[in-house]
Amino acid sequence: MVAIVLVSHSAKLAEGVAELAQQMVQNNVTIAVAAGIDDPENPLGTDVLKIQAAIESVYTEAGVIVLMDLGSAIPSTEMAVEFLTPEQQQNVKLCEAPLVEGTIAAAVQASIGADIQQVLTEACSALTPKISQLSATSTLTQISENKPLNLETQTVEITVQNDSGLHARPAAQFVSKAAQFTAEITVKNITKNSLEVNAKSINQVMGLAIRQGDKIAIVATGEDAEPALQTLQEFIHKLNQEISAESISIPQKSTPQQISVENFDYFQGVPASPGIAVGKVVHYQITFPEVKNNQTENPEEEWKKLQTSLQTAQQDLQNIQAGSEIFQAHLLFLEDPELIQQTQTLIFEQNSTAAWAWKTTIESIISTYQALEDPYFRARSVDVQDIGMRVLQLLTGSSRVSLNLSEPGILIASDLTPSEVAQFNPNQVLGICTVAGSATAHSALIANLLGIPMIVNLGEKLTKIVSGTEVALNGTTGEIWLEPDEVKRQELQPTVFARLDIPSPILLRANILGVADAKFAIDCGAMGVGLLRTELLYLERSTPPTEEEQVEIYQAIANTLSPHPLTIRTLDIGGDKPVPYLNLEPEANPFLGWRGIRQSLETLDLFKTQLRAILRVSANSNIKLMFPMVASVTEVRAAKRLLSELKTELKTDNIPFDKQLKIGIMIEVPSAVLMADQLAREVDFFSIGTNDLSQYIMAADRTNSQVSHLADAFEPAVLRAIEYTIKQAHCQGISVSICGQFASLPEAAPLLWGLGVDELSVNPKALAAVQTSLSQFSLAQAQEIAITALQLDSAQSVKDAIQR
Ligand code: PEP
Ligand code: MG
Repeated sequence: MVAIVLVSHSAKLAEGVAELAQQMVQNNVTIAVAAGIDDPENPLGTDVLKIQAAIESVYTEAGVIVLMDLGSAIPSTEMAVEFLTPEQQQNVKLCEAPLVEGTIAAAVQASIGADIQQVLTEACSALTPKISQLSATSTLTQISENKPLNLETQTVEITVQNDSGLHARPAAQFVSKAAQFTAEITVKNITKNSLEVNAKSINQVMGLAIRQGDKIAIVATGEDAEPALQTLQEFIHKLNQEISAESISIPQKSTPQQISVENFDYFQGVPASPGIAVGKVVHYQITFPEVKNNQTENPEEEWKKLQTSLQTAQQDLQNIQAGSEIFQAHLLFLEDPELIQQTQTLIFEQNSTAAWAWKTTIESIISTYQALEDPYFRARSVDVQDIGMRVLQLLTGSSRVSLNLSEPGILIASDLTPSEVAQFNPNQVLGICTVAGSATAHSALIANLLGIPMIVNLGEKLTKIVSGTEVALNGTTGEIWLEPDEVKRQELQPTVFARLDIPSPILLRANILGVADAKFAIDCGAMGVGLLRTELLYLERSTPPTEEEQVEIYQAIANTLSPHPLTIRTLDIGGDKPVPYLNLEPEANPFLGWRGIRQSLETLDLFKTQLRAILRVSANSNIKLMFPMVASVTEVRAAKRLLSELKTELKTDNIPFDKQLKIGIMIEVPSAVLMADQLAREVDFFSIGTNDLSQYIMAADRTNSQVSHLADAFEPAVLRAIEYTIKQAHCQGISVSICGQFASLPEAAPLLWGLGVDELSVNPKALAAVQTSLSQFSLAQAQEIAITALQLDSAQSVKDAIQR
């Protein structure tokens, strides 16, 4: 006889239902209960092992049907079934019927000796009598309001025929279309004999692993059931006619090797950090932080917290990832009704904190994905992880945990934040490839400084490279080869970053991030540091660095560089470098928002702490101070006033500092270029940040892969801004450096020299190449290049002219 297992959060509820059912069939059916958890304080919940034990205790070949209440009961039961033997799994069916009605219907059917399919069918239609009875009453109400209620259920069956089935993009479109209707819509993979799932849930639809050739049933109930089904059916028809835009077709039962080797073996992306790397692919796996607080006395407040974090995450995604399909799918994950409902259930029924409930739900969804047979759908767990982490970071204020690779490898990620890249150890992370991203995003700049070759904007096909596949990449050309043969390996000779003992016509300094690369910069021949990006000191932590900590770090770097100067740029967060403890509000245009000096002048405690540390180190080291993102003379004056106040404070306390400390500003905003004459009277030097200057002049977000190619410093418009700035600075007798990525390009070096720049601040690894390039020209030739370039009409014609 078919046995029944009841899974519920409440033992009392499940026992009551079992009692009711047994009474109906005179104790003539086997019912086991797996309900509640073994915690006398908080007895409500579901326990995977308990469910497994209950199923095993009543299991016979006739089969077992399992009825569940709601929320986590469902993933817990699914997981319990995974722990059964394959033979048992065949005979255990999860039933979507409501607990009370379903159990009674199933008990009656089982007691008369029906087979498992009949028991299941009967249980699933257990609500029909109730619906018809109540819909009669509702109809009366509706009619009186002149609104007929049509609760008709309609079904269509259709076969999915496109190459890759309902993979991420079409699944996301399918879910978005379903969500436009009020009807309740479910979908089921008939071929795989799946459960019916909510068609408005991206996780559940992806969980069906619908592939080419699979037949699906779409069921809609409600007023707009008919147009809903029509829309979804048309969508699948259209999808079936599409010749897959992707050149990769994944065979139904492919092995990892088939995917990686047979279907594609070469990629071209956007070069973001030079260098060659060969190694095995590792997909960037995010480790969730520990959530310490798991119980709350105020579920309402936790629920609100979750909603705020979901909204912030949504906004962040819209801001930074415009246009990418993968991130559009991420947005749908954030709205997934099932995901939100499961989390809500944990918050209200188990008094879980928002962070705990979110983490638990995300982990259960990840394990559902990871259990899928199909490699494509299994790989989507990375997306759930990514989005789960994004929200969890907001809920806990923590940051992503550092990566631990068992062996050095080439990292593949959808996109990376600067703080993530900053954590990578170049001895472990040999190269980085990302689906989205751009070459002048801060993550790429940090990869440059760490000397890790990086290629960005490779598209979603990148995620299909299987972990462990050997790849070679050239960060200079943006090319990747899968399973490179010996000839290819020979071709890709590693570059040697040697120090050149030839004089340079202009000062060459280095861009660095911290103590670690200061020594490397000197070894590469840098005459000190033209840009220390101090943001890194502030990322990856939950409180800002203290004055003492900063003194220690700046001093260590200054000592390493001595007697050469250390140019310390004050904090430039915001833009693509958010800091969790500052509670930065999401902004529609973060690069036009609260960053650099704007932010520093409004978070005075933070700013003063940094300035005091810099002043103290200046007492006996060669320090220069520089302010980022200056847009007006007023800002410079405000910063200088603050500095004077701090000098007075130090003097009163008898703390020494350099009274002649040189102050400079970054020229990276068009208004600063236009006001260069006045700004030059305020400071001792300029340093042109071409990364920002190009994006602001060309109105092209440097982190948006759709437009970042426009933010090219070779554009004559940018070159004219550089020339104008240099002229104004020299008229006022101050020097100009270039510290954007442009200065590290050997082909740009003679052009910049010709434009009259006094210094270049470059990535240490690029020093030798820049110096070699400069040594091939005379000043007159460099000036000729510059004059020609200023009259050309596009970045490409400038590049062509330099090439010639
Ligand atoms: C620049 O904008 O060129 C620059 C050097 O600053 P950052 O890249 O840190 O914004
Ligand atoms: Mg900048």
